[in-house]
Amino acid sequence: MLAIVLRRSDFRESSRIVTCLTRDHGRITGLAKGAHRPDSPFLGRLDFLNEIDAVFSPDRGGLRLLERATLVNERRALREPLRFLAASHLAFLAEGAMPDERPEPDVFELLRGGLQLLERCPLPRLGHVVLGLELRALALLGALPDLDHCAQCGAPLADGAFQSAAAPGLYCRTDAGTPRTAVSHDALALLRLLHTSPGRTWPSLATAVPASLASALPATWLAAATEQRPRLRALLFQRCRESARESATDDAT
Ligand SMILES: [Zn+2]
Repeated sequence: MLAIVLRRSDFRESSRIVTCLTRDHGRITGLAKGAHRPDSPFLGRLDFLNEIDAVFSPDRGGLRLLERATLVNERRALREPLRFLAASHLAFLAEGAMPDERPEPDVFELLRGGLQLLERCPLPRLGHVVLGLELRALALLGALPDLDHCAQCGAPLADGAFQSAAAPGLYCRTDAGTPRTAVSHDALALLRLLHTSPGRTWPSLATAVPASLASALPATWLAAATEQRPRLRALLFQRCRESARESATDDAT
């Protein structure tokens, strides 16, 4: 079965425990016996985010065995540090949306397609791709707020949107209550653009709005949906900001 390696840990002297996301069976953990031995057929195949064709032993209640693994895609481009950070964040999101051994093909495809985008997109646009992927992940979790209408009264958010201290989502001025926070028009416009555009167009969207300007909104929604704080996210958007600034300086000179 097609699988993407999410995590691995050492087990005894020579083996490894490997956690994968699969399209048809959700998240699967298996024991790769002897994976540490220098002559192991697993060597170089169980690296983080590798796409493999995996054969697991049938589920008999205990830990499964990873019996065979064939390398399908190594994703070398993701070794670039900023891409690696973004890919790690995406893997975290996908794992959060993927329960044990229950198929979530949409989540798997989001991870797989997302990794492909993160491999190829121009570095200064990486932040936009990450935001787009977060919106898709939120939608799969059923936790993406309506970006165009008030979550309370359903009125179009044409005159500005607000966040409420009480609940996630976007509100009109009246329904946001107090304390309310006005949402930046540019930030919301960028999120709407990403949400309504196909993923492959994200790296080349005609927008001058930096990803970091809009990054706080999905952070709030993700925190509400997953109750976990993504560890790498703040660092990721800080680096994206630096990368976009460097590229702007290059263009100017
Ligand atoms: Zn309202």
